[in-house]
Amino acid sequence: MFRQNRLITLLLLAFVTPLTHAAEPLRVFVGVLPQQTFLERIGGEHVVVEALVKPGQSPHTYDPTPSQIARLADADLYVGIGLPFESAWTARIRSVNPAMPMLDLSKGFSQRAMEAHDHGAEDAAHGADTHYHHERDPHLWTSPMLVKQMGGEIARALTGLDPDHAADYAANLAVFETDLDALDADIRATLADVRQRRFMVFHPAWGYFADAYQLTQIPIEHDGKEPGPRSLAALIDQARRENVKVIFVQPQFSRKSAEQVARAIDGRVEVIDNLAPDYFANLRQVAEAIAASERDASPR
Ligand code: ZN
Repeated sequence: MFRQNRLITLLLLAFVTPLTHAAEPLRVFVGVLPQQTFLERIGGEHVVVEALVKPGQSPHTYDPTPSQIARLADADLYVGIGLPFESAWTARIRSVNPAMPMLDLSKGFSQRAMEAHDHGAEDAAHGADTHYHHERDPHLWTSPMLVKQMGGEIARALTGLDPDHAADYAANLAVFETDLDALDADIRATLADVRQRRFMVFHPAWGYFADAYQLTQIPIEHDGKEPGPRSLAALIDQARRENVKVIFVQPQFSRKSAEQVARAIDGRVEVIDNLAPDYFANLRQVAEAIAASERDASPR
């Protein structure tokens, strides 16, 4: 009798074991590269993550490729962050993978409006093309404390799909949160003595970072495009008035008008990238760059 039970147990195990996918990582897609870092930090060896927006691409003008859509059909999870292309492509992604959970990390945050420059006179000149957009600002990941909240959502989603590794996800999340607290403290320390809290940037991607650390970004971009000559002249005046010495750009955008402003004020152009995958080192470097730009601007 005992032997027979044992045999049945062994037979059952032979059938059940392959179904648990013990060694198979979850296939996760995200929007931008910093999210890939967040998912890899929390998911560890249990996830394989791919960002749709590749290095050098702008998420504002991006569309998924046919091969990415095909790969999304086999994905276990999509983690979005409220980018405009995501809402535009949700139905298409759903059509190839109706069962896949789609987590939106921007849910629960009220998105701020993107900074827009006052281009009043120029709007009239350009006509109907240049009405105000006041687009919602999707760059939530530039604030470490917002990312800390997102971490909890990510861990919950991974645990829901793969409860066997709940303890790993919880442990990874705890380390991630500790690292984000340290990052936040370092940025505060770096920016503590900076008196001029305004910085000029081509694409205003740093709104949540600026809000978190009492800074203000002055955008050069106008409705996602290079400014016209009148806006450029106004920006140069403003840069002189505010003693700006550094114009920040990011690799995915043209630096032409930033260079024009920099030349006019005898300043320089510097690259900071909100889409860099090495999230922690990158934000520390951004804080250093902003602090250094003020040291250039107001020698004393
Ligand atoms: Zn952007």
